[in-house]
Amino acid sequence: MPELEGFDVDMYQFFNDHQFQARLLDGESTIGNSDVRVILNASLLDMTKVSSNVSELTVGVMQGDNGVTPTMLGEFNIDSEVVVLACGAVANARQLLLSDFGDTNDNVGAYFMCHPIATKTPGFDAVNVAPRLEQGVLGYRNVGQFSNIYALKGVYTPNEATTLELETGRCWLDNGGSGDFYHEMLPWKESRISLADTKDEVFKQAQTQIDWQLSPNSEANYNSLTGLYRESVLKVNSTATVTIQPWADVQKNMVVNGHHLGTTRMGWSAEDGVVDSNLKVFGTDNLYVAGSSIWASAGISNPTFSIITFSIRLADHIGETLGKE
Ligand SMILES: Cc1cc2nc3c(=O)[nH]c(=O)nc-3n(C[C@H](O)[C@H](O)[C@H](O)COP(=O)(O)OP(=O)(O)OC[C@H]3O[C@@H](n4cnc5c(N)ncnc54)[C@H](O)[C@@H]3O)c2cc1C
Repeated sequence: MPELEGFDVDMYQFFNDHQFQARLLDGESTIGNSDVRVILNASLLDMTKVSSNVSELTVGVMQGDNGVTPTMLGEFNIDSEVVVLACGAVANARQLLLSDFGDTNDNVGAYFMCHPIATKTPGFDAVNVAPRLEQGVLGYRNVGQFSNIYALKGVYTPNEATTLELETGRCWLDNGGSGDFYHEMLPWKESRISLADTKDEVFKQAQTQIDWQLSPNSEANYNSLTGLYRESVLKVNSTATVTIQPWADVQKNMVVNGHHLGTTRMGWSAEDGVVDSNLKVFGTDNLYVAGSSIWASAGISNPTFSIITFSIRLADHIGETLGKE
């Protein structure tokens, strides 16, 4: 891949038969042979607050066979010195809202982000929505499928200096693959998870409402980045053709690509976040959050590996706090 001024250039490989899988490693402890007790069919309902800390958890159990609407079987309580909420980026916020934790500045549930993808415009056979470089212009060749490599792709991502200079989010300009335009959302407080007026059938608790919104700066962000991309390509090859779809088309064809982020973002204080740098909920001493809800802004890479590294760091921190390994 040729260098482009203002962008990082990466090659990505996707493997067919080497998916990331949980593995049992010889000599390593597993949940099965550890002191950890796993309770299945147990839904957290409420966290009781005493002096702004969690004193106990209320957990519900449901019953119901296939095809039959489940009903609540019962509930029980759990006492714990420390609680880590790890219910995913949507439910982490919901649980905090249900139990009234961490929401002094209206930050719980806010800054909800997903990865939007702009897909092909219907009717365009050859041209994709993505800012597209005609293949071969920079000597780039799409390698396609061979041996066990499913796809080898070249991508341009704005580098750090560009990101700071244009005050922009980062986009993934795929150059030669499917052409879909992988777009990182700018954090936007009004994009949020909140409690709905409706109740769930089993536990009769408020359901989740998702209001997924792009930042009003998205169009300017898209235009500045794609403009820079075009300029940079032309510097390398002045006769190159770079097709850039108008923002209106991109927006029209945008779909959600999973990867929930935000909603309990890390901040300096309760004014700008929900958890501190140790993932502890501001205003509490014993409630932590794990998972991609702690992201303050979105990175273009898939989140799970970083979720795992943050979780290991959190485990170490709690061990130190409690004076245990
Ligand atoms: C279609 C799709 C494709 C994806 N592909 C990739 C990928 O290729 N690479 C990648 O890195 N990431 C990928 N992701 C993202 C990845 O799945 C998530 O980032 C990751 O699973 C989040 O981990 P988590 O443990 O924080 O939450 P989750 O995996 O969502 O786990 C949360 C758990 O909490 C449970 N829970 C929720 N509420 C309660 C409650 N009240 N009581 C008890 N339990 C509760 C849920 O049942 C769930 O088991 C993808 C996501 C989607 C949707």
